[in-house]
Amino acid sequence: MNLTQLVLASHNAGKLKELQAMLGGSVQLRSIGEFSQVEPEETGLSFVENAILKARNAARLSGLPALADDSGLAVDFLGGAPGIYSARYADGKGDAANNAKLLDALKDVPDAMRGAQFVCVLALVRHADDPLPILCEGLWHGRILHAPSGEHGFGYDPLFWVPERNVSSAELSPADKNQISHRARAMDLLRQRLGLK
Ligand code: IMP
Repeated sequence: MNLTQLVLASHNAGKLKELQAMLGGSVQLRSIGEFSQVEPEETGLSFVENAILKARNAARLSGLPALADDSGLAVDFLGGAPGIYSARYADGKGDAANNAKLLDALKDVPDAMRGAQFVCVLALVRHADDPLPILCEGLWHGRILHAPSGEHGFGYDPLFWVPERNVSSAELSPADKNQISHRARAMDLLRQRLGLK
């Protein structure tokens, strides 16, 4: 696929910068904010469905090929929750409340049963009705700590233990996290699919 521009289905400037750095300079990412301020309702039941839904919406609004990401935390003991509801797990009360709710749900659960993965699904559509979206999934395996640790990152980073580094993901520098995270893994696959590496 020969792409020079992609619209990113996100209004988050930080995410655009991070994904642009991972994608490299040959494809320019533009924000969906240039075309519309309205965000679609994420009505899917899976990361894949929501990523496709957001990508189609962005392609429809912009007339450009579109990339969307959907991410979250899936905890084994909770059957994959909070999953696609990660951002609003504690009813929209924010990261600290989400983390407190997660710790409460895993109260007295031993380390061996606290396995979890950060999930990122990237969906790329060439146009709004593309019947063959490119889907790339990145998983980052770890486990949920008993108390928050670390100052970097956002969301569930202070509770996510990274076994290969022996730290929480909030203790990794942003540059280190961007080398090994779920988003980095998904983006790596996307670059391969697009022939960018
Ligand atoms: P979004 O896809 O950026 O909207 O992320 C959904 C939610 O998943 C975030 O609000 C966080 O709660 C959680 N999440 C996704 N990626 C990460 C991460 O890298 N660190 C911590 N939390 C994350």
